[in-house]
Amino acid sequence: MKAQLQFADNLSRLGTESAFEVLARAQSLAAQGRDIINLGIGQPDFQTPENIVEAGIKALRDGHHGYTPANGLPQLREAVVADLHRRHTVEVDPKNVVVVPGGKPTMFFAITMFGQPGVDIIYPNPGFPIYESVINYSGATPVPMALSEENGFAFSAEAVLAQITDRTRLIIINSPANPTGGVTPKVEIDKLVAGLLEHPHVALMSDEIYSNMLYGGREHVSLLQYPEIRDRLIMLDGWSKTYAMTGWRIGYAVWPDSMVDHVTRLCINDHSCVNAATQFAATEALNGPQTAVHSMVAQFDSRRKIIVRDLNTLPGVRCPDAAGAFYAFANIEGTGMTSVEAQNKFLNDAGVATVAGTSFGAWGEGYVRFSYANSTENISEAISRIRGLL
Ligand code: PLP
Repeated sequence: MKAQLQFADNLSRLGTESAFEVLARAQSLAAQGRDIINLGIGQPDFQTPENIVEAGIKALRDGHHGYTPANGLPQLREAVVADLHRRHTVEVDPKNVVVVPGGKPTMFFAITMFGQPGVDIIYPNPGFPIYESVINYSGATPVPMALSEENGFAFSAEAVLAQITDRTRLIIINSPANPTGGVTPKVEIDKLVAGLLEHPHVALMSDEIYSNMLYGGREHVSLLQYPEIRDRLIMLDGWSKTYAMTGWRIGYAVWPDSMVDHVTRLCINDHSCVNAATQFAATEALNGPQTAVHSMVAQFDSRRKIIVRDLNTLPGVRCPDAAGAFYAFANIEGTGMTSVEAQNKFLNDAGVATVAGTSFGAWGEGYVRFSYANSTENISEAISRIRGLL
């Protein structure tokens, strides 16, 4: 008899990250011989620095082939603590650091730790699509924190605090932000933290995966710098973007005491531990020289200036200054196209892969995300192809 499977209800509520679908379409067009410039996917176009690769190879040669502690190698968690001290001047106990396979698992664990039917989770929109997807999957109600161009795509603390109810369990923030490049100023973070003291039932997840990528003299404000909310803060960061290590699959978060055992158990149930050699490589990334990071960030900065300047010269297009990460979020309303129409036209007719703003939530309508993790030549060529089209 033919199988008649009955999947769990929550599976139908799981969303996706459209950037991967755009990548697949771009790759299939390229396979057909089309010349495609990829400004779609959010990953550095650099190779992982050599010293990090060598540390991974050495770990394999030295026989590190087995399981590690579920929360990560002790020396790696120590290296994370030292890095956090160096970059944010904060004290963190290694026992609060949990290493996982990428930035995404922390999101999944944090959201499913709090999300269930009948509760609300506030998340940025437009924002990283996995937040809304996993909130829906958990059965919780996603409450969008609407981000706007007028505000530089920063959240307004007042607006976020006004959305909190007895049902709210978790607030997610992300600065520097994907897909907008927006950076939330310290004054808004101060206000959010002060307001949260009135709502002790609400946890906070701060996604700081782009914390090394700020431009124009801006400095990152880590939520770890606020001791008054450390007992409910999950601070997510990782290696993928900073060290061009997206394919190695490693990331971490700092968890409060009350959540460490829960998340460690989730790790044991889910993946046991991160690949051992990758953990050795990640340790070298933090303990070794940072020159490659500075050079990558400097290159992103010069590409950023070019893409923002050139996008603003296109008819019907307006692009606000992108303060962080490696994305320009251009307003395309003046072209008369919707986000998806523009994404499809740019790819099919100009051979330029971008991602529609609506892939990041309903508030992304009217925008297209350009990732400038590509060479200046390709960026200039992409803009000139789109100019021809418009
Ligand atoms: N957080 C944000 C805001 C991101 O944009 C991404 C990746 O694009 C991640 C987390 C996940 O990174 P990882 O590849 O390490 O899972």
